[in-house]
Amino acid sequence: MAQSDVDVDVVVVGAGFAGMYLLHELRKTGFSHRVLEAGDDVGGTWYWNRYPGARCDIATTDYQYSWDPELHEQWQWSEKHAAQPEILRYAQFVAKKHDLYSGIEFNTRVDGAQWNEVAKRWSIHTSTGETITCQHYVMATGCLSVPKEPDIAGTEKFTGNVYVTGRWPHEGVDFTGKRVAVIGTGSSGIQSIPHIAEQAKELVIFQRTPNFSMPAFNGPAPQDRVERLAADRVAYQHEARYSGTGVPLEDSTVSALSVTQEEAFAMLEKAWQKGELLSLGNTFMDSAINRKANDVVAEFMRMKVRSVVKDPEVAELLSPYKHGYGTKRPCMDTGYFETFNKSHVRLVDLNASPIRSITETGIDFGKESMEFDAIVYATGFDAMTGAIVNANITGKNGVTLKNKWEHGPLTYLGLTSVGFPNLYMITGPGSPSVLSNMMVSIEQHVDWIRDTLVYMREQGFETIEPTPLAEEGWRVHCTDCADITIFQEANSWYMGANVPGKPRVMFPYIGGVGRYRMACEEVVNKGFLGFELASSTKKQCNDGLVREVQPDVDMVLDFISTLNLPAMETMTPTEARAFSEASSAMRPSGPEVGEISDGVLPGADGELQYRLYRPATPGPHPIAVYFHGGGWVFGSHTSDDPLCRDLCAQSNTLIVSVNYRHAPEAPFPAAAEDGFAALKWVHANAGALGGIADHIAVAGWSAGGNVAAVTAQMSRDNGGPQISGQLLLCPVTDGSQQHASHKENGERFILTKSLMEWFWNHYATPEQRKSPQASPLLAASLAGLPPTMLVTCQFDPLRDEGNAYARALMQAGVKVEHVEARGHIHTSITMVDMLPSGAPHRREMARALRGFFS
Ligand SMILES: Cc1cc2nc3c(=O)[nH]c(=O)nc-3n(C[C@H](O)[C@H](O)[C@H](O)COP(=O)(O)OP(=O)(O)OC[C@H]3O[C@@H](n4cnc5c(N)ncnc54)[C@H](O)[C@@H]3O)c2cc1C
Repeated sequence: MAQSDVDVDVVVVGAGFAGMYLLHELRKTGFSHRVLEAGDDVGGTWYWNRYPGARCDIATTDYQYSWDPELHEQWQWSEKHAAQPEILRYAQFVAKKHDLYSGIEFNTRVDGAQWNEVAKRWSIHTSTGETITCQHYVMATGCLSVPKEPDIAGTEKFTGNVYVTGRWPHEGVDFTGKRVAVIGTGSSGIQSIPHIAEQAKELVIFQRTPNFSMPAFNGPAPQDRVERLAADRVAYQHEARYSGTGVPLEDSTVSALSVTQEEAFAMLEKAWQKGELLSLGNTFMDSAINRKANDVVAEFMRMKVRSVVKDPEVAELLSPYKHGYGTKRPCMDTGYFETFNKSHVRLVDLNASPIRSITETGIDFGKESMEFDAIVYATGFDAMTGAIVNANITGKNGVTLKNKWEHGPLTYLGLTSVGFPNLYMITGPGSPSVLSNMMVSIEQHVDWIRDTLVYMREQGFETIEPTPLAEEGWRVHCTDCADITIFQEANSWYMGANVPGKPRVMFPYIGGVGRYRMACEEVVNKGFLGFELASSTKKQCNDGLVREVQPDVDMVLDFISTLNLPAMETMTPTEARAFSEASSAMRPSGPEVGEISDGVLPGADGELQYRLYRPATPGPHPIAVYFHGGGWVFGSHTSDDPLCRDLCAQSNTLIVSVNYRHAPEAPFPAAAEDGFAALKWVHANAGALGGIADHIAVAGWSAGGNVAAVTAQMSRDNGGPQISGQLLLCPVTDGSQQHASHKENGERFILTKSLMEWFWNHYATPEQRKSPQASPLLAASLAGLPPTMLVTCQFDPLRDEGNAYARALMQAGVKVEHVEARGHIHTSITMVDMLPSGAPHRREMARALRGFFS
């Protein structure tokens, strides 16, 4: 076809569920459009993947469109997990019902696209030779639409029949009486192998990595979901949209490590019997973030394999050990493991017997050669980025998306990318996509794109493009989310590991469907935060970051906000102490140490309790005299127990956690004087405690950081005891004035400005706060203080006074290591075994503590 002079508002590539819904919405909102599809029918995934056994593994109650309520009356699914032919029929039914066929050009592949910065238009080139220009360009090209080329020597030599699961012949394949090889045991292999085994005379399965799979127990749709949908479909869909995965599920609050293995297996068995993919991974709150918790689930799955597969060696080969449950896409099967009990089925472990070459007649592997009539490649997809990059997109200044993404996809919200104005990706990298029920994610992206286009038209904007700041911020946020999980340990296609040369980063957003949706909504509500919208006459840009708080910290903040707790500053000190003790009782206990013992020591005015944490290694050990947080009003060795255990275990240091006196009963300077008295006693009794007298440091968090800093100054000013270092976590250093962070971070992050004022009011009068024993920052000189590790948190009201102390110490010539913990709040680093994002900072603190004594 000749060059077209067609110019439309929107070009859409792909007519799977994403392209189909977008076409419907573009018509509804009156945008001129072209929809181009390489295949000759709708359905995308369900058009191409016709291998035997192909079916969805999200229940049909959830894996269906929600945008047309009539569909729920007009279409009845026959099974819980619909097979490919039925899902394709559903797509065709929707296309006919909404006359979508008339709006799609089939057998039309998009080969390339260029952005024209002068015309503010994309030029799209198709396999039919046409060039179409458009204002907006949408890739509805699918996350799993480009089968991965098998990277095996000799593939071109084989003269028998070759099949690729993702490009299965429409007429089907009869394997009756055939010798068949299947290469690959991911989802497509696991679904197809039992069916191929039914027909084949001989079946050999070549496995590189065993995968976790559970039986689908297919049958009618799950009754509980059917009933919930019937009772209130809108509420059900709302719950799905704000859930973790796009399917309403109750979030677990049970740690796999808090129950016995027997109890854990009983809980997992219940989830197993449901035959729902997401139930198993959702049984425990920590299986995605804690390796040991994940091992509990993985061992349950291995036990299931052993219970089915009769040959123990084969069972072992089919059992995954090298990746955690869920870190590669778990599968659902029908009779997969049972297939290996059949006498004509053989499993070849490619790790022990790698394929040397495909030959004309079969496969040479290990020391063997076998002949086959057919080879089936179930080798997966160039996931998430394959189809987008293959479409040869060139943005501003001639930069291609392929080049830009050389080291990993860079997107804002997984929807857009800097340098590529008016380009949108449905379920693109950096969005929940393949980690979700994709129907929910597809609909969300289509709605977002539609609403954005409408907004731009109404406001007269021609272009929209994310800012570099926002894109980089989103990359950091996506990485933060991935970093708190164990997903990055696995060589999965989520990590690009299945395609040679692909960058190894986490491609989908792992922060959850609901949290992702809220971020997208927030972006829009804040005037398209992080986007520049422009026309020839005007510009709109509210540059900034949509997510800065660490994702696990954010979850805790959200959880706390649901509890509607009274503000502590509205309590009496006695009530606040009881509240603090009750909260402490609900946390994980922290790591084991060699020994924990309680004792008393002489304070400045009477006895003080202390708790001693001894490392498991042979002593004597260096000592850290530790002071707990709690605003001088509450807290105790119990409140900071997990942190002290962690410090002790990681730094191999003996920790003496001192219960100094509390205000208002014992106001300023009681805490400071007790701190110094405790230091002197520990120094004098170091040997008896199992410590080393000239290896003593002080440490503390929050008000305890204040006590530690003051104690260090008092030891300097009173001729000893000599201390080796001070470890200060979010210390209070200046009660005399307001710092900017008091206001900036004063409301949302647990320690509030008003709570801080409440603490000070109990502890010290405004006049007393000017003393360096209350405000160590105000000391006449900070010279001569010991080496310091000072940690401040980005969203802590105390951040700026901590930073000021670090700067002042440095200016006074003190050796200071200062860590500004990005995305953290006042309390988060102390939350041992609760917030994985705090762990690296605690490791640094322990390293610094050890370093004081070397
Ligand atoms: C075997 C299998 C099972 C799955 N099971 C589930 C499940 O249980 N639950 C779930 O949520 N998700 C599942 N998925 C993911 C599935 O891909 C999505 O659920 C959904 O179907 C994707 O729809 P889409 O429209 O975004 O993309 P697709 O359905 O992949 O459609 C993309 C279309 O774009 C076309 N296209 C691509 N590039 C070009 C080009 N350059 N020019 C022209 N056309 C192009 C392709 O031909 C294709 O038709 C599964 C995927 C596979 C492969």
